Amino acid sequence: MPIRVADIRPVPPRDDRAGSPSGEHRRVADELAPMVEVWQRLLAEHVPDAAGRCRTCTKGGTGLPSMPWPCSIHGIADMARRVHDGDESAAIGPDRLSS
Ligand SMILES: [Zn+2]
Repeated sequence: MPIRVADIRPVPPRDDRAGSPSGEHRRVADELAPMVEVWQRLLAEHVPDAAGRCRTCTKGGTGLPSMPWPCSIHGIADMARRVHDGDESAAIGPDRLSS
């Protein structure tokens, strides 16, 4: 079954003001998008536990889940996946590695 690109609605472009959290996330996601194994691992690791908290975003050193899921890291990894999966033109310019 073909993926309909029209179904994937990217967030409307926002101005790239410094300090905008979503803009910052988007920037990181754009950088992460080509690194498939990285965001795949993040998506695999940042999954909810039975209580709906991220299993990986634990409080430093305690191992106690502290972040409601989806956590921001999962959000970034998910955004990177969407960028990679069909939203490249909207998110990042053609990134040809011609060698
Ligand atoms: Zn997490």
